[in-house]
Amino acid sequence: MFYITQDRIIWYNSITCICSALMCGRICTENLERIVMKLYFYYGVMGSSKSANCLMTKFNFEEHGQKVVLMKPSIDTREGANIVKSRAGLSAPARLIDPDASIIDMIKGENPDIIMIDEAQFLQPWQVDELRELADNGIRVFCYGLRADFRSKAFPGSLRLFEVCDTMRELVSMCKCGKKATMNVRYADGKIVYDGEQIVIGGSEQYTSLCHRCWKEGRL
Ligand SMILES: [Zn+2]
Repeated sequence: MFYITQDRIIWYNSITCICSALMCGRICTENLERIVMKLYFYYGVMGSSKSANCLMTKFNFEEHGQKVVLMKPSIDTREGANIVKSRAGLSAPARLIDPDASIIDMIKGENPDIIMIDEAQFLQPWQVDELRELADNGIRVFCYGLRADFRSKAFPGSLRLFEVCDTMRELVSMCKCGKKATMNVRYADGKIVYDGEQIVIGGSEQYTSLCHRCWKEGRL
């Protein structure tokens, strides 16, 4: 079974492609993704450059004439909350998604090529299902977010993304011990906090990321 696209013939079942130029016949996930993968979830701990990746990807798409809508959940209502900002200094205004807002209604009549969502862990699971629906109808959706909270429990929005996305990719960050950081760590007064509300906005707690062992053993 194969699909003929504008410039390529792609063998679907065998996951190999025949590029019209190269006749390479190798496994070609890039071309396969063009056909079947539309809802992406890029996940990582705090400090893994999710927002920077989001903004750079947005810039690249727009440079190629794609219409991009940048959005983020409105969980944080402090001043400047409607901006996606990376530690590297990039920033762009984003449309806020309220917890009870339909994303499909928000973009009705706009026909974007691409929807990009930062802080996607704060989406409601039914909003993720809406993104799935939009992806099924030809809009490419890129979500960036945390996998789990400071207690190592998955955010409901992230869990739903893992369940229904076409492609998930980890953005990696390093623990101070040199291992891969996998845990988002909440701490206060120099000590790791292991319990409490999943979402606290504007509290005195601070956050960092550690590997599981450093987190478990309380090594900040
Ligand atoms: Zn560590």
